[in-house]
Parts: sequence; structure tokens; C-alpha cells
Amino acid sequence: MPTFYPGPSKVYPQVAEYAAEAVRSGIVSLNHRSAGFMDIVRQAVELLHQKLAIPADYHIAFVSSATECWEIVAQSLTGSTSLHPHSGAFGQKWMEYAHRIRPMVRPDLADTLCLVQNETSNGTQLNRETLAQFRRDFTGLIAVDAVSSMAGITLDWTLADVWFASVQKCFGLPAGLAVLVYSPDALTRAQALAENDHYNSLLFIHDNFSRFQTPYTPNGLGIYCLMRVLEQLPPIAEVDARTRSRAAEWYRFLEQEVPQLPFTLLIDEPARRSDTVIAVEGTSEAIKAVKAAANAAGITLGNGYGAWKDTTFRIANFPAISDGEIDELKAFLRQYRS
Ligand SMILES: *Cc1c(COP(=O)(O)O)cnc(C)c1O
Repeated sequence: MPTFYPGPSKVYPQVAEYAAEAVRSGIVSLNHRSAGFMDIVRQAVELLHQKLAIPADYHIAFVSSATECWEIVAQSLTGSTSLHPHSGAFGQKWMEYAHRIRPMVRPDLADTLCLVQNETSNGTQLNRETLAQFRRDFTGLIAVDAVSSMAGITLDWTLADVWFASVQKCFGLPAGLAVLVYSPDALTRAQALAENDHYNSLLFIHDNFSRFQTPYTPNGLGIYCLMRVLEQLPPIAEVDARTRSRAAEWYRFLEQEVPQLPFTLLIDEPARRSDTVIAVEGTSEAIKAVKAAANAAGITLGNGYGAWKDTTFRIANFPAISDGEIDELKAFLRQYRS
């Protein structure tokens, strides 16, 4: 049954085989300090560098979720407080978590800028030019939540010091694992703050990962499946081109090909529209009806989220979704009458 839910989302079909492989071969029972397990961590890290074109001097660690990364940025990388310009529910939540750890006292003292590259709740994104502008204007550390875009589009890694994503969006994997990427400057900041109070303090994580180990028993199954999915992926430039052309086609389709639908795109300005999550707006009755009809036709549309919960549905444009599934949803929308 095709699902266009933007997280948890469709997993690559090959994941079933990779997971079976991990169980059959005993990988999931390997001690996480063993050479065999460390080798899988090492390969996954190398493949991330290679397939996502992450600069060689940026470090990579695995943690449990993007929410955990929000807290790691606050506890281990923020000295005074953090700024959170945002436009949606995930940016808002990040700010609330961060300010509980490093309360906002004076915005002019903030040493960390926190941005959500792709706001999954409303289908907006910060494009390269906007990120470059933040990089020019802000002299402190920049951390970017790229949960619903990493592994779906090309990211210009040098425009921020910290990037993270959980794997249940564009990576096409089951939830429970997140990729944390951090620059030499981020590590320098962590060393200057010397925050060591938590099991997931960045310095402790870094120390472990420099030996391809983890502070606690990690999600070995998730790391193995990530490694296998990365092996099968084309270079990110190819994935990016496909994601962007599919997104352009989705926006064209929704604006031009289905005038009978009682919906409009939630985001008017094309420059702000996300390439990976498309938000469609209507009355709550119309949204409810189309989700139910899609469901009856065997297709899962993404619910709205946060302030847009009842008045939007969302279409994930993630790499694991096949052309056939997209055609199926388009055919459904073409024939749909409210
Ligand atoms: C899904 C999502 C999160 C939360 O990810 P978890 O793995 O549940 O912590 C955070 N930020 C954005 C933009 C998301 O789309």
C-alpha cells in the first residue's frame, strides 16, 4: 500500500532483506565493542561521507533521534543561548527544548543559531542562498535540522557546523537512529565548553566514535541497514536531481492538472516550497474526505501537522517512493471529485 506519509515513511523494499541478513548472520548479536561491529560503523560512516559528499574533516556520529540532536546542540554546543528563527512546528519545538536547557536571557548574547532546513510541518525549506546569508550574518555556530531533506537533496555542508537527520524520512529506513554531522569548529566549541555531564555529551560521543564505538549499546540493526541502503544509493547529486524534478512535477500537477480539487498549495511562494514535503491546503471537511477516499483506494496521504493538522494533507517526496506509486496517487487525484 503506497504511503506518502512524511515520517515514518516508506522504507526501501530492500530493507526487509537487509534486516533478515543482519539477523541470519548474527550481526545483531555482535558485541558493540567487537571488531566486526566496529567495522560496520566504520563502513557506514565512510559511505555517508562518500554518498552524501560530506567533507572529509566533518565528523559523523550516530544517536537515537533528531530530538536527541536538539538536546545535544543545547547541552554540549551552546554556551550562552541559541537563536531559533523558524516558520513551523518543528522549529518551534526545537526552540522550546533548547531554551529549557539554555534559557533565552538576551538574544544579543546568543552564540548558536538553530535552523530547520526543511520544515516538515508546513512544507517549506531554506534554500542555499538563505543559508549562505545566515552564514555571512552570524559569527557563532550554526546547527541545522535537516531531518526531512538529508539524503534527499544536496546540502552545502560548509554553510553550517552541525547537521542532523533521523533516518525515517529521506533515508528510507525504520525509525530509531539519527545521523549527527559536525564540523571541526563545532568540536572546538564542544572542547571549549567541556560539557561532560551526560551519557550523550558530544565530547563523550566523539571520543567513542573516533574508535567506531558508541557510549551505549547502539541500534546495531539500524546501523547495518543504513550501511546497506547507502551502498545501494547513487551519489547525492543524482538523488538531488531526481528529487527536484519530481517536486517540480508535483507542484505543476497540483497547480495545473487537477483544477476540480477543492485544494490549493499551502505555500504560495515557489522559492520557499520544499522539495521533499508538499503541503496541500483545504477546509477540514475536504481534507478529511480526501484522506478517507485515498485510504479506501489503498493510498496513505500524510496528515497535517501542528497548526495545519486539520487543514492540510502532506505528500512526501522521498527517494524510496517509486515512480509507479507517484503515478498511482496522481491517477487517484485526477479522478477524485469532492
Ligand atoms: C521528524 C522530524 C523531527 C523529529 O525526528 P525524531 O526522529 O522523531 O526525533 C525533527 N525535525 C524535523 C524537521 C522532522 O521532520
